[in-house]
Amino acid sequence: MKQTPESRPRAHLPPLFDLVRIREAFPILRRTVNGHPLIYLDNAATTQKPQGVIEVISRFYEQYNANIHRSVNLLGQLATQEFEEARAKVQRFLNAASAKEIIFTRGATEAINLVAQSFGRAFVQAGDEIVISHMEHHSNIVPWQMLCEEKGAKLRVIPIDENGELLLEEYEKLLTPRTKLVSVVHVSNSLGTINPVKEIIRIAHARGIPVLVDGAQAVSHMRVDVQDLDCDFYAFSGHKVYGPTGIGVLYGKEELLRKMPPWQGGGDMIASVTFAKTTYADLPNKFEAGTPDIAGAVGLGAAIDYVERVGLENIAAHEESLLQHATRRLQAIPGVRIIGKAARKTAVISFVVDDPPLSALDVGVKLDLHGIEIRTGHHCCQPVMDRYGIPGTARISFAMYNTIAEIDYVAEVLAKIVNEAAGKARPTPQVPRELIFPKPFAPSPAVAAAKLIETFDFLETWPERYQMILEFGRKLPPMPDELKTEANRVRGCQSTVHIAARKRPGTSDVLEFLADSDADLVRGLIAILQKVYSGQRVSDILSFDVENFFARLGLDKHLTLGRRNGLAAMVQRIRDLARQIAEEARQEEERLKEETQQRPAKSVSAGVS
Ligand code: PLP
Repeated sequence: MKQTPESRPRAHLPPLFDLVRIREAFPILRRTVNGHPLIYLDNAATTQKPQGVIEVISRFYEQYNANIHRSVNLLGQLATQEFEEARAKVQRFLNAASAKEIIFTRGATEAINLVAQSFGRAFVQAGDEIVISHMEHHSNIVPWQMLCEEKGAKLRVIPIDENGELLLEEYEKLLTPRTKLVSVVHVSNSLGTINPVKEIIRIAHARGIPVLVDGAQAVSHMRVDVQDLDCDFYAFSGHKVYGPTGIGVLYGKEELLRKMPPWQGGGDMIASVTFAKTTYADLPNKFEAGTPDIAGAVGLGAAIDYVERVGLENIAAHEESLLQHATRRLQAIPGVRIIGKAARKTAVISFVVDDPPLSALDVGVKLDLHGIEIRTGHHCCQPVMDRYGIPGTARISFAMYNTIAEIDYVAEVLAKIVNEAAGKARPTPQVPRELIFPKPFAPSPAVAAAKLIETFDFLETWPERYQMILEFGRKLPPMPDELKTEANRVRGCQSTVHIAARKRPGTSDVLEFLADSDADLVRGLIAILQKVYSGQRVSDILSFDVENFFARLGLDKHLTLGRRNGLAAMVQRIRDLARQIAEEARQEEERLKEETQQRPAKSVSAGVS
C-alpha cells in the first residue's frame, strides 16, 4: 500500500505499546509448564528473548560466522562490522560519549571483576577503602572482598533502612580520604529499590571519588544516560535486557580506562608482542583479550533495537502499573508480607508468608505446579536476608510482556496456597520425652533406594512425585526443639534445616538421625534421606551413590545436586557425621587392640610370678 503523508508514522511520536504484539514476539510464552500456560515472572534472573533476537543470532552463524578484527576475508569483515555496530548500539543505548568507552564482557559480574582487578590493582593500596551498600548482589561484594584481602584494604558498607532504602547520611559519613571507589547497585534485584545513584555520584565526586554503578537490573526498566548520571563505570548483562547470555557490558569513562592496566592478556588486546616487551591495543580492545562472544554481542545489539522499538518509556510505564497492581493484590492476601517498600521501586516484589509460616521454597514449588515461574531464596543477596532476619524470599519480577491478568491469576493461586496451608497447619507434633529415632527402613542404603525407586517409578509426572515427597514429609518423625541448635543447623539450604545424628546405642558404626525443616518439600526430602541412611552402617552410607539414586528417582531435574543446593548440603552433613562415627570406631578399635596386646603380656608375667 502506498503511504500517504498522513499514514506515514511520525518520527517524533513515541512507539505504541501493543502488549498483544509484544507477547507474540516471544515464542517461549506460547509453551506450557506442568500443563498450564507459562507465566514467567523470573525476569530479574533472566529475561526471555524475542524472535528477532533469536533469528539474528541464527543468521550470524548461518551467514557470516567468522572471527573478528584479524581478517582480510569478507566474512571476517562482515562479522567485525556487525560486532562493532553492536558496540555502537550499546553506546547510543547508554548515551556514552564514545564507542571506546564500551567494553564487551561476559556479563555484569565480569564487568565488575574487571574494574576490581584493573582499577584495583592500579589505584588501591593497603589501608584504602571501597564503599558498597548493604543491598548489593554478591557479584558487587565478592570481587571487592577479594581485592581488599589482596591489598589489605577495607570494605565499608552503606546501611539500609527497614523499607530497603539506602541511608544517605550514613553514606556521606563513610567517605574519607582513604575511599578509593564507591560501587552501588542502581536497582536492587532482591528489593526492587531504585537507588538515587545520581545523588550518590554527586556526593562521591565532590570528594574526588569515582563511582561504579551495577546496572544489571536497571537497563531493561528505565532509560540510563551515563553522561547525565556522570558515573565513572556502569555494568550490565545482555541476558537481563532480552539479549543472549554470555555477553555483557562495562562502560567506563575514557580518561579512567586509559589509566587502567589491562586485566587479562591474550590475542586482540595487544598492539605488538616481542619476548622483550608487549604494547597494548587502544581502547576498548585493551580490555577484550581473546575471541569475544561475537554472536552474543550481535544478539545484544538486536535486543537493544527491540527495546528501543517498543520504547523504554512505554516499558517503564507498563511495568509501573504491573508493580502497583501486584503490590495491591499481594498485600491483600492475609499472611503475606512484602519485603522492600522503598518509595522508588521497579519491577520486583519480594515477599514472605508469615501466617501460616510457609517457606519461600514451598511457595515457589507450588506456584510452578500452576505454570508460574518465580524465584525463591536469597537471590545472591545474603546480607539483605540477614538484615531482615529471614532465610530468603519468594520474588516475582516483571518484564514488558507480563500482564495484569497474569498477576490476578498469581494472586488467586497464592491466596489458595496460603489458605490451604492454613487449613493444614501442622499441629505441633507430640514430641516424646525420650528421643525416638526411626527404625531402619531397609537392611542397607542400596535396598532402601531400590524400594523408593520402585515407588517413584509408578509416578510419571513431577506433580505426582511432588505429592509423594510431601506425603513422606508429613510422616517425618518429630525432632525436639532442643536439638534445633546452631551446631545442628545445615547451611546452604534455602530453608531452615537441622540434622541431629548419633551412633546407635549398642553399636559402633551405625548412624541414625533426626532432622527437620520449615519447608514441606525439604521435610519430604529429609524423609527420603532418612529412609536411605538412618540406621545404616557408616561404611554403607559412605559408599552409597546418592547422585545416581536421585537421578533414578527422577528428581534430579527438579532438585539438582549442584553445589548451591540444600539437598547436597544435607547429604554432605550426613556423610560428614558418618565419617566422624567411622573415625571414632577406628580409634576405639585401635585402643582395644592396644589393650589386648598389653593384657596377655600382663597375664603372662602374672602367671610367671
Ligand atoms: N547485579 C545484580 C543487581 C544482579 O541482579 C545480577 C544478577 O542477578 C548481577 C549483578 C550479576 O549478573 P550476571 O550473573 O549476569 O553477571
